[in-house]
Amino acid sequence: MLIDTYGRTATDLRVSLTDRCNLRCTYCMPEEGLQWLGKSELLTDDEIVRLIGIAVRLLGIREVRFTGGEPLLRPGLPGIVERVTALTPRPRTSLTTNGIGLARTAAALKAAGLDRVNVSLDTLRPDVFKTLTRRARHQDVLDGLAAAHDAGLTPVKVNSVLMPGLNADEAPDLLAWAVAHDYELRFIEQMPLDAQHGWKRDGMVTAEDILASLRTRFRLTPEQDGERGSAPAERWLVDDGPARVGVIASVTRPFCAACDRTRLTADGQIRTCLFATEETDLRAALRSDASDEEIAERWRKAMWGKKAGAGLDDPTFVQPDRPMSAIGG
Ligand code: SAM
Ligand code: SF4
Repeated sequence: MLIDTYGRTATDLRVSLTDRCNLRCTYCMPEEGLQWLGKSELLTDDEIVRLIGIAVRLLGIREVRFTGGEPLLRPGLPGIVERVTALTPRPRTSLTTNGIGLARTAAALKAAGLDRVNVSLDTLRPDVFKTLTRRARHQDVLDGLAAAHDAGLTPVKVNSVLMPGLNADEAPDLLAWAVAHDYELRFIEQMPLDAQHGWKRDGMVTAEDILASLRTRFRLTPEQDGERGSAPAERWLVDDGPARVGVIASVTRPFCAACDRTRLTADGQIRTCLFATEETDLRAALRSDASDEEIAERWRKAMWGKKAGAGLDDPTFVQPDRPMSAIGG
């Protein structure tokens, strides 16, 4: 098991499959992209599957989420999913993607055993999409979403980040659209994880702002009596259900005390938290012929050192060197 000194147990593994991306969301990456990892730095498909196998068989991981960068850019993705869903005990699997290319790959991913997708879409307006992501690919994302739903990668969840002056006024429109298409919408507060270090607390749209905006058009009732367990999203029934909406308020209502995550970067580093400033190198262990048990022990040690919280409210908070796209969001 992956236990830390605060008594939390990690059962949810986020695996970043690449640091590259075909979009340039302003809250994530600069226009020119980043210094990408070299081929020899990236874990191979076999190395990824081996590490996930160790996590599932020896460390109690029950949920594996593939992310990036843009995970659909990894050619071996269907094969990785197939091998991971063949593990015993079989973990639940999901993919966080910007949706570009999903129209082509959704059916194959479902056939490979993938359970669900989270597709990121911040706006219903193609012009705003282009400003936000610096690419004119809005229709590709809509097509990807529809294909995921048709393929049965359900419930299809949509992640939206709201930015002041760009799409902050779209919360009720996004929710009406999501309900009409049977997608489960979750708003994510913007976090200080952009490569440009441009995040400002007073320049972000808060959970409170989002809920106030949604309530101008919908009746929202809390789904779980204020209890959200380890789920980062607080959820509300929309107009008495069955549709729901979630808000992930990592900044204004952090959920660190119930966190059940561990993270593996595309270059084989374990991170205990998105905001961790330290990493544990499993790639070196893999490539020096360490046994599964030795690797598992390194992973346990890393998690034992997990901090109590992300510390966003601490005046000494320092943004991690790696941006979101290189950690795996
Ligand atoms: N490229 C894929 C995508 O966009 O879904 C997966 C990686 S992306 C880093 C994962 C999620 O992180 C996306 O939903 C994205 O909107 C979100 N994200 C990126 N930067 C963020 C930030 N600074 N604050 C909050 N969420 C962010
Ligand atoms: Fe790419 Fe996802 Fe970052 Fe947007 S949020 S630039 S799609 S990694």
